[in-house]
Amino acid sequence: DDVLLEVKGLRTHFTTDTGEVRAVNGADLTLRRGRTLCVVGESGCGKSVTARSILQLVERPGRVVGGQVLLHRRGPGGAAETVDLAALGPRDRRIRQVRGRDIAMVFQEPMASLSLVHRVGNQIGEAIRVHNRVSRAEARRRSVELLGRVGIPAPERIVDAYPFQLSGGMRQRVMIAMALSCEPELLIADEPTTALDVTTQAQILDLLADLQDSRGMAMLFITHDMGVVAEIADDVAVMYLGSVVEQGAVDGVFHAPRHPYTRALLESVPRMGAPRRERLPAIRGSVPDPAHQPSGCVFRDRCDHAMPGRCDTTVPPPVSLADGRRVRCLLYGGDAPAGHADPADPA
Ligand code: SF4
Ligand code: MG
Repeated sequence: DDVLLEVKGLRTHFTTDTGEVRAVNGADLTLRRGRTLCVVGESGCGKSVTARSILQLVERPGRVVGGQVLLHRRGPGGAAETVDLAALGPRDRRIRQVRGRDIAMVFQEPMASLSLVHRVGNQIGEAIRVHNRVSRAEARRRSVELLGRVGIPAPERIVDAYPFQLSGGMRQRVMIAMALSCEPELLIADEPTTALDVTTQAQILDLLADLQDSRGMAMLFITHDMGVVAEIADDVAVMYLGSVVEQGAVDGVFHAPRHPYTRALLESVPRMGAPRRERLPAIRGSVPDPAHQPSGCVFRDRCDHAMPGRCDTTVPPPVSLADGRRVRCLLYGGDAPAGHADPADPA
């Protein structure tokens, strides 16, 4: 149908002195055209690495070791084609093409992709000229236009500024302008507002929601903030210890979470009006070390519904439920044991 990107069983490992760290260990995501999918989870759950893995931007000693990242795009001439990005090397010509043409990414820290010593207009202009045969004058004209579209006042002046002369919020807008320069079908945003003050956060979030909507672009938005999810998500995916444990439409997941971890996570969210910040949920036990993952289900040490002899031996496969929800938990699906009630079921 209108699926743009499918991540299936993605695995990304880091080789360290203490062993193989499975930062991403079975991530499944489905992104539809023109929709916003928020990936949520505590820090260290693998959400940033998942985002970077999609574009083969994982830094050493990390590498994508398994799974698929299927991009369903319109190829040259408009014919539909599917490319498995996980099968391409980080320096493959085709992945570089995808990064500029189909998928763009903005990071938490704008200086990760902006150079301090080059004028804003030259940096956006270069991004434009990589994928379009246009003159420098035309690239500059488009840069000014893009800066205006991301809400930068006096863009014809800012185009000649250096990033170090701008505030954090303005730099983030410049980075978004640069990301939009190739008219991507998908924008990946990794906690793009976390480093900003509250007012600027709200403005950048509004800008992204507006751009996503007006351009019909899909957005994959990484956050630890449930307030942000409630504000911008159509769909939400919940990650725990490198796995996506649940994905579904945001209303469904918020009102009737299925996976025991999602339920615990939502119960731990502070009340409306409380200050937003990353806090550890009140879930008993602690997140295991990703270098020493438990056998079976990753959540079993902390789960109130764990079934001895099953949850410690079987890795739960992703199970699709009737409402389009997908859950990795042995309480669901054809093999679910009789007599174990769905924990979401109040009966
Ligand atoms: Fe709990 Fe078992 Fe489901 Fe894991 S598979 S979340 S341990 S019930
Ligand atoms: Mg992160």
